[in-house]
Amino acid sequence: MTGNDDIAHRDLNVLWHPCTQMKDHEWLPLIPIRRGEGVWLEDFDGRRYIDAISSWWVNLFGHANPRINAAITQQLGELEHVLLAGFSHAPAIRLAERLVAVTPPGLTRCFFVDNGSSAIEAALKMSYHYWRNSGRPEKRRFVTLSNSYHGETLGALAVGDVALYKETYKPLLMEVLTAPSPDCFEREPGESCAEVAERRFEEMAALLEQHADEISAVIVEPLVQCAGNMRMHHPRYLQLLRAACDRLGIHLIADEIAVGFGRTGTMFACEQAGIAPDFMCLSKGLTGGYLPLSVVLTPETIYQAFYDDYESLTAFLHSHSYTGNPLGCSAALATLDIFEHDDVLAHNHRLSRVMAEAAAPLEDHPHVAEVRQTGMILAIEMVKDKAARTPYPWQERRGLRVYRHALKEGALLRPLGNVIYFMPPYVITPEQIHTLARIAATGIDLATRD
Ligand SMILES: *Cc1c(COP(=O)(O)O)cnc(C)c1O
Repeated sequence: MTGNDDIAHRDLNVLWHPCTQMKDHEWLPLIPIRRGEGVWLEDFDGRRYIDAISSWWVNLFGHANPRINAAITQQLGELEHVLLAGFSHAPAIRLAERLVAVTPPGLTRCFFVDNGSSAIEAALKMSYHYWRNSGRPEKRRFVTLSNSYHGETLGALAVGDVALYKETYKPLLMEVLTAPSPDCFEREPGESCAEVAERRFEEMAALLEQHADEISAVIVEPLVQCAGNMRMHHPRYLQLLRAACDRLGIHLIADEIAVGFGRTGTMFACEQAGIAPDFMCLSKGLTGGYLPLSVVLTPETIYQAFYDDYESLTAFLHSHSYTGNPLGCSAALATLDIFEHDDVLAHNHRLSRVMAEAAAPLEDHPHVAEVRQTGMILAIEMVKDKAARTPYPWQERRGLRVYRHALKEGALLRPLGNVIYFMPPYVITPEQIHTLARIAATGIDLATRD
């Protein structure tokens, strides 16, 4: 393998890339990465990029982290994989014990899966199956929020609401009930985020009351709708939702696949509302960004509804080949060790203040509608008209201009439409945060000039 161009050429002969119109690569260079270290990615021409988006929100403690590397290497010498039905292994047991200890109270059972979308599928099936086992098979509908994202397999896509991913496949998807997102970007003049949450919740409450007898679960991304352009809401919404679900006998599924493991400032986003869901889905940062692994956590009451003699046919007969893979579990254990030993959340608190300071000047930019932040996630929304908050037509691909500028300047800032965001590994330095903010500012200037 030699330089970027050679490798990209070979790649484009045989690969089909995710979330990509492949024809773009006739003019948009594909960037092959040779190695990673900390926040840095290095390509085959020797150019380096700060990974400002944690390689799609998975990386927590840098690339090639020595502690996680060591844990995987040791596990590799002992056991690479074994099926988890009828058999077990130490990394899965230790990880389950520790996840039960660190997640909100009441979540006592871990069902391992192998990627985020599959965790969502498992949670949806479990929720419906719980009601079926409890003599309520008519409770089979799911409620979601507008602008939500839960993955791209058919069930996960059905409970999501991002048109770009969903529209094409709509004829294949189950129908869901959709309530308006408590997204604080859509506040009225003078309204606080908590007030938006309360106002929007009234519509959710009406929907739940009307359909309670046929609803299995409500699914939410607590605090930040990440793939939905990093739109954020107040924890008050989650408190109201938890109370209504309890009152009406409806499950609450918290999709913390993106926001879990410290991204929002607390270990899990649900903590900021002081709630525990009936199903919590975790993936992405679970292995520190190393290996595909996911888990659904649920309380003992749910587990018990499946526990019976074999002939009752109430078991949850769902499986994936790589469920609970030992290498993935060992990476996850090393990740939890780092959280435990390094006081990561306090450190992140300081970093998130630096992010706020570094990006604050962008609030005055004539084409920035808002700079918003929840913990270690900071998003900058570009608009055509600041006062009216008129979006740029999507066809103009303004975010892509910022992306290309950032690559030249040594940063990976892959946008979401017209939203530029920072969601960096926690090993980023204050100086690197300021570098990113400078690159974003010039990029936004260039992208909004005409
Ligand atoms: C990424 C993501 C998923 C899907 O996870 P995959 O591992 O990509 O299938 C689900 N929900 C949320 C909130 C996500 O950000």
